[in-house]
Amino acid sequence: MNCIFCRIVKGEIPAEVVARTEDVVAFLDVQPLADGHVLVVPVAHEACVEDLEPAQADALFRAVTRLAGPVREAVDAAGTTIGVNNGEATGQTIPHVHVHIVPRWEQDGAGSIHTIFPRRGRRDVKEVGTAIRAGIDVARGAD
Ligand code: 5GP
Ligand code: ZN
Repeated sequence: MNCIFCRIVKGEIPAEVVARTEDVVAFLDVQPLADGHVLVVPVAHEACVEDLEPAQADALFRAVTRLAGPVREAVDAAGTTIGVNNGEATGQTIPHVHVHIVPRWEQDGAGSIHTIFPRRGRRDVKEVGTAIRAGIDVARGAD
């Protein structure tokens, strides 16, 4: 396994780690989009969020919610944009789940999540809703 984030998790390559639990490690992005840009990764090597076990997913989002305030306050930011490139087609460059926490300020020149999409959906919302509901795996607790 030659995954950079697995190697950071194991301490094999250096990173500015800001938090670590049994299930999750958070560290500063080496090429930050803004001061305080943090990546939160599960210890488990999984490419996409839907590959995570429920307990891994719970631990990951719990860590994100715990970190959002301290990250924002450490750099005197007004808010944070929190996002995941989930799959290679979305621009994900490292196939190990990572949640970006990027501090934001008024008039920092960056847009909202909406600004990354060039157009809106075209399919009927009810039809899409039905398709999603039919595919939810209740065993995973997605009720
Ligand atoms: P992605 O584009 O896959 O969502 O984001 C990957 C992120 O990982 C990028 O923001 C990139 O700067 C960061 N990154 C890539 N290699 C390393 C590394 O070796 N150390 C750290 N700390 N961040 C990395
Ligand atoms: Zn990995």
